[in-house]
Amino acid sequence: MRTTAPLDGTTAPRREDFAGSRRDFASILNHPERAYLDSAATAQRPAQVLDAERRFVEHDYAAVHRGASAAVGAATEAFEGARQTVAHFVGAQDDEIVWTENATDAINVVALGLSDASTGVGDAALALRPGDEILVTEAEHHANLLPWQKLATRTGAVLRWAPVRADGTWTIDGLRAEASARTRLIAFAHVSNVTGLIAPVADVVELARSLGAWTLLDACQSVPHLPVDVGALGVDFAAFSGHKMLGPTGIGALYGRAELLNALPPARTGGSTITTVTMESAEFLPAPQRFEAGTQPVSQAVGLAAAVDYLSGWGMDAVHAHEVELAGLLTDAVSGIPGVRLIGPAPGAPRAALVSVDVEGVHAHDVGQFLDARGIAVRVGHHCAQPLHRALGITASTRASAYVYTTPDEIAAFGAALGEVRGFFGADR
Ligand code: PMP
Repeated sequence: MRTTAPLDGTTAPRREDFAGSRRDFASILNHPERAYLDSAATAQRPAQVLDAERRFVEHDYAAVHRGASAAVGAATEAFEGARQTVAHFVGAQDDEIVWTENATDAINVVALGLSDASTGVGDAALALRPGDEILVTEAEHHANLLPWQKLATRTGAVLRWAPVRADGTWTIDGLRAEASARTRLIAFAHVSNVTGLIAPVADVVELARSLGAWTLLDACQSVPHLPVDVGALGVDFAAFSGHKMLGPTGIGALYGRAELLNALPPARTGGSTITTVTMESAEFLPAPQRFEAGTQPVSQAVGLAAAVDYLSGWGMDAVHAHEVELAGLLTDAVSGIPGVRLIGPAPGAPRAALVSVDVEGVHAHDVGQFLDARGIAVRVGHHCAQPLHRALGITASTRASAYVYTTPDEIAAFGAALGEVRGFFGADR
């Protein structure tokens, strides 16, 4: 398993230990010329994840929950074992984790379910009525915005949002000002994929509870990077993706409080979701099976559980501590470069290990190409957060993001290259 972290789990790994993690990532070793600073888009996968998936496929692969063969039994055990591993990792009960394609899909499961709640399936008390309000922030990823726009259109509910300030961050006061007795749901990112802002989850949950509203936490950028306990946080729903936490693509998870999940109509229906079917109607199984229609991403679930085991081997407190250090290096790297504006919390304030910058006079795509020519892979564009960029008066930004395998040297190289961009394009004259 883990190659360098302490095995007894008592001592936090040192920074050098995390540098040692690189030997677990063939994709990083295969590109010594490249600094991969795009883990917020998708993370690299360690051998432990690839091996677990391959081992499962070579020994135990079969359809799950169907049939009485030993093959099905072994596959089902692995699949449900993976669910337990992921549930335990985020502080949920096993039946509160629904497999989805990714975080986007997980959020859609909730939004589509709520919009179907008036159709006689599930609990009609969940249905949104015209004039009910859905509250988000202006900083949301489109994955946590478009499903709510659609829900509002379908139900006559009203979408409201907390505006961002000049630095792209939002505040609990801004959110509170948009909340009302008609607020039914507050959906917000735990960690912004553009600003790195870490949301005041406890305050949002308190606000929602005072209004009798549900909360949905877009935990796509938090579950991979910090300890997250959905039960302790008290959110009603949470969504995250396997591929951002060292796991496979094609799998994500929706957490929902058991009571709510069992009241929510399944967004997609089909095989494996039912107790009884007649030619006119169907009765659905309890969660999570009621949401898992069709053949499931079985080996991906096994791979995701292996990613969780890998992260747990390091310890999420240690991963977070490592990333706090990297966040400091990232903000230092971009600070003090003339014409480079850091978006998000000021240097020194808590933030995730990612920075987005606007380079005056140079389009983000040119910045990205310049950095790429120097072996630095970053993300450029609106990062699926157009409203946020519009509020900042820009169309695109350049984002560098780190993970367990990121080294201080890579961040230093990023800072040095960024410092040359405006000169290269003649934007400093
Ligand atoms: N929310 C946030 C904050 C994200 O960063 C992302 C991915 N960029 C998503 C949601 C969507 O994740 P996925 O594409 O894996 O569904």
